[in-house]
Amino acid sequence: MQNDNPPLSRDRQRPTQRRSEARTNGLIDTRIDRRRALASAAGLAGALSVWPMFWADAAPLKYALKPTKLAPGAWMITGADEAITRQNGGAIANITILDTKDGAVIVDTGPSRRYGMELEKLARELTGKPVVRALLTHFHPDHVFGCQPFDKNALAAPKGVVDGLKQSGEDFASAMYYLAGDWMRGTEVVLPGKLIENEREDVGERRFRYLVLSGHTDSDLAVFEEKSGLLIAGDLAFLDRAPTTPHADLPTWHASISQLSELPFSKLIPGHGPAETTPRALRQTGDWLKMLDDRISEAFERGLSMNEAMTAPIPSWAEKLALARYEFERSVMHIYPKLEADRWPRVDHPDR
Ligand SMILES: [Zn+2]
Repeated sequence: MQNDNPPLSRDRQRPTQRRSEARTNGLIDTRIDRRRALASAAGLAGALSVWPMFWADAAPLKYALKPTKLAPGAWMITGADEAITRQNGGAIANITILDTKDGAVIVDTGPSRRYGMELEKLARELTGKPVVRALLTHFHPDHVFGCQPFDKNALAAPKGVVDGLKQSGEDFASAMYYLAGDWMRGTEVVLPGKLIENEREDVGERRFRYLVLSGHTDSDLAVFEEKSGLLIAGDLAFLDRAPTTPHADLPTWHASISQLSELPFSKLIPGHGPAETTPRALRQTGDWLKMLDDRISEAFERGLSMNEAMTAPIPSWAEKLALARYEFERSVMHIYPKLEADRWPRVDHPDR
């Protein structure tokens, strides 16, 4: 059966012991068929980055993480407003660090083992304590591949995130090796040791409220720290950077945005883009999703091809977002097949 389920060619770029290490993580048992693996990797590549143009670019291979203070005892590392490249090493998502008297809490771990190691060191320097809780907002690789330096039982995520990692983590890792190259050396998929639900958890003096939502993916965690009012929204919110939609369900995403809008937050940290005291990230993300739905549905109803739909005009406010045209084109690729499946008559079942 092994030959029917070949790994993607990530092994070309990484130590040969990878497969056996992965086996000890219990991940190799998650078999995928070749078509789905390739489709998933291609989808990820399309969703997250352009194919690197220069394979031989020498990168400094140090992320040099720079924390920005959000509030007393709270910092954010701002991701680059870019797609994943061999220059940025996949450091495109925002990561949050919170001090508590019992230890540091981080939200998301970044794109690679190397990033996670720098993050662990930075969290220790900022707080003077080890990381006692590392929360994963969703299964996209720019958020979850820096887990190796952290205690497995400190790592926590909703069941849907863990299931997503079990199913697609290896494919994502393969795609990331292609996109980011040597930054990914030694990176493995790690499954969190603790499952979380819609619940509260006290860590030291802080009170975390976990909201298990969906829409950007099948399982999106938002973290509301009730004492400070910080709302870490993961990729349910983007700001001044076009949202990504490879695993999105737009109506569910809108519903999650409505739910987050009800929270009395003092500052909102989006998955990508700046943190603000205003709800602008939620509004802008909702507006972008509505714009996508309207423009793409209209193009579909007019009978335009996918390529024609990609060139549809978008409003000037939307054009101003980082990666706007790029993400719009990608979203057409994600959404058009769903519209075809939903709205075109079935030739084998003309009544459906
Ligand atoms: Zn994401």
